[in-house]
Parts: sequence; structure tokens; C-alpha cells
Amino acid sequence: MAVERTLSIIKPDAVAKNVIGKIISRFEDNGLRIAAARMKLLSQKEAEGFYAVHRERPFFNDLVKFMISGPVMIMVLEGENAISQNRNLMGATDPKKADKGTIRADFAESIDANAVHGSDGPDTAATEIAYFFPALDVYTR
Ligand code: GDP
Repeated sequence: MAVERTLSIIKPDAVAKNVIGKIISRFEDNGLRIAAARMKLLSQKEAEGFYAVHRERPFFNDLVKFMISGPVMIMVLEGENAISQNRNLMGATDPKKADKGTIRADFAESIDANAVHGSDGPDTAATEIAYFFPALDVYTR
């Protein structure tokens, strides 16, 4: 198994619900470590840049508006198969379709306010981590 890094964002809905700690516990209890963390209110430009791959999607404007509606908790998670492990813990994009016991099933309300973001592959993980964190601020333990 490979030690990987992935980018996780606790989105504004979950931050507003005061469940940052509960979500982080899911990661820590399942073998992932926090290698970097920062709370931030994203600007419109930052959110648009982060979600640039979705620019042509009909939900792009709603997604950006939601992501800048309040502060988010941005983290690098590290561990064995961190990318797929995080995706499994998150559950399906639509919380109504997410498996029982996943973060989205337990903490999210709708497909647009769905509690967490997680990189979907090694290339996006590297790009997304570099978007928010200089290499020197990511700590392997
Ligand atoms: P993820 O990797 O599971 O986060 O899903 P995607 O990469 O497909 O989409 C990115 C984000 O866009 C999702 O987490 C949702 O917040 C949002 N999104 C995706 N599909 C829809 C949709 O049909 N409607 C709305 N409003 N938002 C969506």
C-alpha cells in the first residue's frame, strides 16, 4: 500500500453546523493524519479557480456562491491510500445516495451543500494541495 496525500475541505455548511471536530475524528479514526490545515473564507476568484474544471457545468455559479458563503476548513490528509480512503469516508456526492455512516450521509443536506470535498485522483490531489499549501507547510509525521 502506498502512503498518499489528498486535499480535504470541510465546506461552509459543515463549518456552520460546528462539526469540524466530528469530521476530523472520522479521518483520524480511520488511519488518516492531518499534514496541513487552515481555515479560510475563500474569495470568489479563489473558489472559481479551485473549481475551474467545473466551469462549464450548469451548477458552477451556485457551487462558487456556496463555497464563499462562509469559512471553510482546508486540510491535507496523509495515509495509506489516502485518496480513496477519504472518498470512501465522504460518501456519494448526493447525500441522499451516500452510504449509511459516511460523512455526507451523516452531516450533509443536499448535493450543493454536501459537507466535504475530497480530491478524486493523484493528479488532482497534487494540483489541489499546491493550490492552497506551499510544500514547506505540509508535514509528514
Ligand atoms: P465530488 O467529487 O463528490 O465533490 O463531486 P463532483 O466533483 O462531481 O462535483 C463537485 C461539487 O459540485 C460537488 O461536491 C457538489 O458540491 C457540486 N455539484 C455536483 N453536482 C451538482 C449538481 O447537480 N447540482 C449542484 N447544485 N451542485 C452539484
